[in-house]
Amino acid sequence: MSSLGSAGDKPFTQAQYLDVLDTLRQTPDGNLAVYIHVPFCHVRCLYCACDTTVTHSLEKVDQYLDALEREMGMVTERIGRRRPIQQLHVGGGTPNHLNEPQLARLMEIIESHFTLTPESCASIECNPRRASVGQLELIHGLGFKRISFGVQDLNADVQRAIGRVQSLNMVRDVFLTARQIGFQSINLDLVYGLPFQTPRGFQTTLDQVLDLGPDRVACFSYAHDPARRPHQHAIDTAHLPSPAEKLALFHRAVHTFTEAGYRWVGLDLFVLEDDELYTAQVAGRLYRNALGYTTSADRQVLAFGPSGTAELGDALIRNESDLRVWQMRVNNGQFPVAWGRRLDETDRRRRQAMLHLMCNLKLPASSAADLDHEYEQLCRKAEQGLVEISDEGIRLTPQGRYILHGLCSDQDDRGDCGANQWRFRMPS
Ligand code: SF4
Repeated sequence: MSSLGSAGDKPFTQAQYLDVLDTLRQTPDGNLAVYIHVPFCHVRCLYCACDTTVTHSLEKVDQYLDALEREMGMVTERIGRRRPIQQLHVGGGTPNHLNEPQLARLMEIIESHFTLTPESCASIECNPRRASVGQLELIHGLGFKRISFGVQDLNADVQRAIGRVQSLNMVRDVFLTARQIGFQSINLDLVYGLPFQTPRGFQTTLDQVLDLGPDRVACFSYAHDPARRPHQHAIDTAHLPSPAEKLALFHRAVHTFTEAGYRWVGLDLFVLEDDELYTAQVAGRLYRNALGYTTSADRQVLAFGPSGTAELGDALIRNESDLRVWQMRVNNGQFPVAWGRRLDETDRRRRQAMLHLMCNLKLPASSAADLDHEYEQLCRKAEQGLVEISDEGIRLTPQGRYILHGLCSDQDDRGDCGANQWRFRMPS
């Protein structure tokens, strides 16, 4: 049997992948999610950490859609066709780089392989610079209830330095249009740690974003890693904030949004008080999977498109990142897996403990052994006021939450499909 990819010295074969899909076939309907990665953008932003390709070729996008249809056909042939899905997320890249007929075709492909029910939640990431009234109406009409717009920073110096110029007026117009059209939830994404970000400038961005009244705001950490992302060489490190300044920027975001009534969820998300994610966090049942935060502990995530990352039962599986390699494998009738790993019992328990800490900000005493030596390291953080220890376990203090945020952001940035989410580096 050919090897489709490897995790260190452990090959992940086609047989293993088929085995994972066969297990899913026998799993009752009711907790399935689908992620689709659209790997195209109009231009490359200099800070970008995503798997994407700049193209202006309609044909290239059409060929991607052909391969996507084939990949979905291969998977659903194995797990059963038109199974209901609870969650659909289309990310990228820039999903709204597709033109209107291509967006409509994307939805047709999805709906011919899966069933979206009235309860399904469909979300999509959009670049405001590519959005038009007609396009947003189409996206809403296709059934997307949640939409996310990348804002990053509204300061002109920052925007020039990261190669992403979009005025407040334009972002406001797009946001208000989406509101008027009737999207249930509008999310805005910010990035901190970018060149030329200053406390004053970032505060202005935070205030302007707040004025729009988004339902959720994500505030991501910029990771400068030109060795892995050569286009980041164009960012002059002399203009990047220091680690302390960067932490202060995030602190500003926390302060601004929480003062305005938003609730801080997990590592980097701010939501309204009645948001289900906040309710879940308060109840200690917030989770995180390849799609982000979720209220469902055992959701199975199928992923399609280059670099799509699936979480199926005890397996993590990542597709080929390179568009041409992904396409070639699919067109050759292969599952385009680049990396896969089945978690053993130790991995699972450790991961569960880490996710509990990241999402619910506490670790029950019963999970202490699952964290191995890191549990002792965490306990030592009590002296610095970063954690509180009781008979029930460990609870992160607000200060500790900032530290964990930095740690887990580092891990996410490594792009190894969540495998490190349960192996973080402890600061000294
Ligand atoms: S729009 Fe997003 S995915 Fe595309 S280049 Fe910019 S940051 Fe990267």
